[in-house]
Amino acid sequence: APILAVVGRPNVGKSTLVNRLIGRRQAVVEDVPGVTRDRVPYDANWNGRRFTVVDTGGWEPDAKDRAAAIAAQAEAAIATADAVVFVVDATVGATDVDEAAVKMLRRSHKPVILVANKVDNAALENEAHGLWSLGLGEPHPISALHGRNSGDLLDLILAALPEPPPIIEGGPRGPRRVALVGRPNVGKSSLLNRLAREERAVVDSVAGTTVDPVDSLVEMDGEVWQFVDTAGLRKRVNQASGTEYYASLRTAGAVEAAEVAVVLLDSGEVISEQDQRVLTSVVEAGRALVIAFNKWDLVDADRRFYLDKEIERELRRIPWAIRVNISAKTGRAVEKLAPALRRALASWEKRIPTGQLNQWLTALVQATPHPVRGGRAPRVLFATQAGVAPPRFVLFTTGPLDAGYQRFVERKLREEFGFEGSPIEVSVRARK
Ligand code: GDP
Repeated sequence: APILAVVGRPNVGKSTLVNRLIGRRQAVVEDVPGVTRDRVPYDANWNGRRFTVVDTGGWEPDAKDRAAAIAAQAEAAIATADAVVFVVDATVGATDVDEAAVKMLRRSHKPVILVANKVDNAALENEAHGLWSLGLGEPHPISALHGRNSGDLLDLILAALPEPPPIIEGGPRGPRRVALVGRPNVGKSSLLNRLAREERAVVDSVAGTTVDPVDSLVEMDGEVWQFVDTAGLRKRVNQASGTEYYASLRTAGAVEAAEVAVVLLDSGEVISEQDQRVLTSVVEAGRALVIAFNKWDLVDADRRFYLDKEIERELRRIPWAIRVNISAKTGRAVEKLAPALRRALASWEKRIPTGQLNQWLTALVQATPHPVRGGRAPRVLFATQAGVAPPRFVLFTTGPLDAGYQRFVERKLREEFGFEGSPIEVSVRARK
């Protein structure tokens, strides 16, 4: 979600305004000058559009010690924001501190909305006009306390924030798209044929969707699934003649078109480099992943022992992948496929509420701060989930993180919130 930073001197009413913007009544302590407070982002929603509000500390330029730290934090928030609301107390008017803040806001080149707060009644509107002198354009008189003009302000904020891509949540949607991939002879056609035979291939198109003729619609566990780019499999094209190059092109195309991939591995054979390349293509495309160990009917205790060792070694980088052991030939455990796909897709589309995410993050970075390097340690300020499918997270920091520390945060994020069956992305936005 786009980010809005709320900036202003101590006591101009920032926290009251933030509560107003997020539509929540919350006991927020207004800033005590010179006291640092951890900045927490909040989810806001206006007219169906979501954005994140970051309440910055009372900004004081040229301040020493703790107040300087607050100013630095506010500047970091501004640097990472998509738009800024600059709050001025209309009953006080523009102060030197406000003017210094304006200079800093100008340097940031972010869209700024000038808010004249504490305009509790029409008689006070004249006071707001004086704020034209700040050179930030029209001052918008509001009363954060009483909610006066706050709807208009929210409209302005939405206009200043970048338009998010439309998300159709809960709307009508076609069948989930599945890629069935794996190296030649792992049993892709056998599995598809079994599913089509046992479960019932759906020939007609599903209402409201167009299904590519190269795809197969199959009903599994009471739901229709779209196996993408399976024409070659259905026609049983002689795959021995296809070079690995063409096989990998097919894999890439199917994975790209799908939401979730079933990677078939041959339980009877060692996990090869070609298998690894198929797995990598799924992870790099950011698709949900289910690994199906096929030909399980041929696995005996001896093979099982070595296979477990191989899994431990070869699938170490993707411990989160969901695994099922099946036999396309006998039909063993094939019914486990649909629930596995559903679980992977649920992780792939999971959204962690900003408050919950940051509560966890605050505790984590407190317990295990970034190691000190050359006398300094970057601080992780907060995090937001930038998107889903797959889940993407952004850490806002005071400086670049060690790769090891970033991996640590990522691992802990998985431990806390799951994401079984889905890759996740964690990126860092460091203050410049
Ligand atoms: P594809 O190239 O991935 O489409 O693989 P195929 O479906 O053509 O299967 C390759 C070979 O493996 C065929 O001889 C199948 O009969 C055999 N096969 C496929 N699945 C199984 C299985 O679960 N168990 C056993 N024993 N053989 C299988």
